[in-house]
Order: sequence, then C-alpha cells, then structure tokens
Amino acid sequence: MNSTSHSERDLIQCFRGRPQLTRAEIQELTGFSRVTVSHGIKHLLGSDTLIESAGTLSHGGRNASYLSLNENSGYVGIVYFSATSMSVAISNIKGEVLKSTSTSISIEDGPDQIFPQSIALLKESFKGINKSKRLGVIIGVPGPVSHELGKVVSPPIMRGWDKINFHQEFHDIFGLPTYLENDANLLAIAEHRLVYPNEKNLILVKIATGIGSGLILNNQLHRGSNGSAGDIGHIQLDALKGIACRCGHTDCVESFASGWALVEKIRTLGYKVENSKDIAELCRKGDTKILNLVTEASSYIGHALADAVNLLNPSKIVITGSLVDGTDLVLATIKESVYQRAGALATKNLQIETSQLGEDAALLGSAQLGLDQFFYKVSAS
Ligand SMILES: [Zn+2]
Repeated sequence: MNSTSHSERDLIQCFRGRPQLTRAEIQELTGFSRVTVSHGIKHLLGSDTLIESAGTLSHGGRNASYLSLNENSGYVGIVYFSATSMSVAISNIKGEVLKSTSTSISIEDGPDQIFPQSIALLKESFKGINKSKRLGVIIGVPGPVSHELGKVVSPPIMRGWDKINFHQEFHDIFGLPTYLENDANLLAIAEHRLVYPNEKNLILVKIATGIGSGLILNNQLHRGSNGSAGDIGHIQLDALKGIACRCGHTDCVESFASGWALVEKIRTLGYKVENSKDIAELCRKGDTKILNLVTEASSYIGHALADAVNLLNPSKIVITGSLVDGTDLVLATIKESVYQRAGALATKNLQIETSQLGEDAALLGSAQLGLDQFFYKVSAS
C-alpha cells in the first residue's frame, strides 16, 4: 500500500461497501480508461491489496472475473483508553477486530505507567504481522483531542496526559501514522457506520465516569473548531446550584449526573463504590436509593440533551456507557425528559435507543476510522 498512486486509491475507493467488482464495473465507477484500470488493478493484485476470483458467466456471455479486497492486506493497531480500562487490538481492512486484550487501569493515575504499558501491548499485538502490512494506529481517549497537536487538551479526567504527544510517540516507536480520537466520537462512528448508516444526523451519548457525546451531522463526524464539539457533560443547568465540576466550572451536568459525581455522592451514603460499573451493579440489584439517584441524574442528562436536540435536530440518539447498562430507567428517564423539553418539530421523527454494539463498540469505531485514515485515506464520517 505504500506505493499506492492517486488513481489506485480511486480504484480502492470503489470497494467501499461493495464486496466484489468486475473490471468493467470499476471502469464505470471511476470513469477511468480501460488501460488505466487494467494497469492499476495489476499493481493492486501484485501488492496483494486485491484478490481475483473466477466469476459466473456475465450478461454478455463472457466469463468475468471478480475482484475483491484482500482482507489480510493491511492491519490497523488500536489502543483505546477509557477511565477504567485499556484495550489494545488489531483490525483488518474489512474493519473486523481480530484480536484484542483488555486490562483494568485508572486513567487518573497518569501516563507514567499506563502509557509504556500500552506501547508494550501494541508491540505484542503487532507481532507476526509483516511491517509492510501495518497501516497505522488509532488511539481513543476519554477527553477532548487536538488533531493538530496529537494531544489531549484540558482533559478533566486525564490529568497529566496532556504532556504526551501521541502522534509523535507512536510514530517514533512504530514508524506508523497515528491518529488520536475522542472516545464518544469513535462510538458515534461505530453506530453510524455499522448500525444506522441511513441516519444522517445522529448523536451518541456516553454515560460512564464522564458524560460525552459524538455528533454525526449530515453523515459527517462533527468535531468543531477545536475538537470540543459534543461536550454535553459540561452544559450548565440552572437546576443544579453551586455544585463544583471537575472542569473548574459549577453546575455542569457532569457535576451531578456523571459516574464520578455519583460515586462521590453514593460514598457519602455509606456504600463502597469505586466507579460507574459498581453503581450499575447496585442498580441491577434493585437498590432503591441508588436507582432514585441514577434516575434523577438521567433526568438532568435529558435536560442537556433536549437543548442539543433543539439545536441539531437529530433523528437518532444512541445512549451507551456503563451507567446505562445498569437499569432501563436511564433510557426511559432520558426519553421522558427530552420529549418533554425539546420542541415538537425537533422530536417529531426522533428515536432514542440504547446501543446494541456491545463491549467492542469503541474498537469497531476505531477500526472504521483506521480504514478512513490509513486505507481509503478520506476524512472520517
Ligand atoms: Zn464541567
């Protein structure tokens, strides 16, 4: 793939969403001459990017052979940090996650131990994969990201991590292009590509240690001017009076409704909880006090989300995260709150649902972004 020319990239683009094509179909899709297509295909077959298989008789009676992507021709490395875990994985050019390992961390411990650990795990994961087939590395983090700097920016729950230049560090060690992305954005990409490709405007909300969202607007991921778009957890609500947030402001949604805020509150009630997963477990056990708190928290998230709905008019909101997994009340309360507060036209065709992608959602989103960045070489959507 290293020596792929501009026209060959156009040829590769044809295979996006199309499992197999004939040369004639490629010619039609690209508008290139037969010679250009033939030359480009020959090179892509030679580099193992494409494979050829005999087809059945075509309409013209001639035996057309089919071309398809060789799923083993390229691999993306993925490192995904959440507040409480780190996952390292490899995906292929079909966007399938082939192998992944996950380990518990506390992102608040800072990068000194965790960062070298992530490098070691990725080295291990890349073992056995020829260097020429390693396309790049996607890194997901639970905080706002600057793509220009390759760093996290003012991360409320990633103190100390802003000294790491992810792009530079991974490039120096692996010699590969590296792309840093916010976790909610990766989840939004996964939902949009893999579950709801026909929804042009989708909001993904992650409710876990922090609260964040990823915005797909007109089929494109919307990062905003500085990468902070979707920072729904730091919308301030009048109903919350004088509660300090970790971002330095007061009365943010997160200051009441996030996993970290709930952990603090629930501890004062005498419970031993470490994180949002523990809270979800208490919900599953039917603890009424905790369920009431989580319901109240969900209603505040709904308040903020109603503002987002009025502003952006999405047709789909997908809710995910460890707190959501604990009880159906989170979804039900958010729905009630959004439909009550947002305008009638903005909610006319709106559906709010929980994610069905499961634990691998962020890795699947990372795999999709990896294909965009390193294989198809288009901007994320
Ligand atoms: Zn805040």
